[in-house]
Amino acid sequence: MRAAILENNQLKITEIAKPSPGRDQALVRLTAAGVCHSDIHLVKGDWPRLALRGPTAMGHEGIGVVEALGPGAEQFLQMGDRVIMGLGGLGGGFWCGACEFCLSGRPRLCHAAKPLLGTYAEYIAAWAKALVPLPEQVADREVSLACGGLTAYSAIKKLIHYGVSPGRPVALIGAAGGLGHYAVQIAKAFGFMVVGVDLGPDKAAFVKQLGADYALDVKEALECVHQALGGVDGCIVFTPKVTGFELGLRLLKRGGVFIGVGMPPATDPPMTLHPLDLAQKELLITSSAVGNVEEMRELIQLAARGKVSTHASLQASLSELPAILEALDQGKYTGRAIINDLSR
Ligand SMILES: [Zn+2]
Ligand SMILES: [Zn+2]
Repeated sequence: MRAAILENNQLKITEIAKPSPGRDQALVRLTAAGVCHSDIHLVKGDWPRLALRGPTAMGHEGIGVVEALGPGAEQFLQMGDRVIMGLGGLGGGFWCGACEFCLSGRPRLCHAAKPLLGTYAEYIAAWAKALVPLPEQVADREVSLACGGLTAYSAIKKLIHYGVSPGRPVALIGAAGGLGHYAVQIAKAFGFMVVGVDLGPDKAAFVKQLGADYALDVKEALECVHQALGGVDGCIVFTPKVTGFELGLRLLKRGGVFIGVGMPPATDPPMTLHPLDLAQKELLITSSAVGNVEEMRELIQLAARGKVSTHASLQASLSELPAILEALDQGKYTGRAIINDLSR
């Protein structure tokens, strides 16, 4: 079968053996795979701490149909089920289910967690417990809910967890991007007052169209937010740039909640915050990365009700993937790219 394999920072589309499902695994014939921005960073080696060793099958957002079940998997799925997979790769392949992290809803932190990788392929053998069956209202083009959508969803839920109530103003930085465009829709569905911030008038128009209450250019955001609202109660930074993180901190009012999601390259400088500012404003600063399988189920329900949809700007076949990653790296298009033909 065809698959995209990364070796020595080179992504190649090549022939590999079709997998067979092991214990608790399902063999899934993939009908769509989402292109995630983190794939570019992995290919370029931007995140040395997440460096992949040896040839690695790539891709962590997938939708497909269950074609075979390994022993034990029949407890969770049936043949012919249409499923979404990914959990952002992290923890999407296995978690123990019994440790302090698994039991507190954070299986990504489980020491036994294994990533899910290999959705840029015709087939994948995937751990059945991490697969979420899809209602027919959720089309293949929604495949990026698997990582991008889930990451946005989990970050929004953390606002509530940390005491920012629906109805309150929250700023989403990078609101027009692959993650941010989901976050605007999800935050509105939860009832927040949404301040979407991104670069330039085209992106602001897109953010407004997604339903944001305020759609602001980066340059005007600080003044507008403090003048109109006196600051925001919470902010989530999706932009993988330290400048976006620093803007987020400055948009918060006293007692605000800061959630960092974007992952700038290791070569970017650290973000700076004087401890006196921290103490004076009594900020809560935390981060969020992808989400868990229960959050995936909740997100799918929102999508089935039409509350969240993917802005997919490009659909292509597997052989076009290296060129797509290159174009995405150069910022040539907004929205998500989807591989909807994995066989050529
Ligand atoms: Zn991803
Ligand atoms: Zn565990």
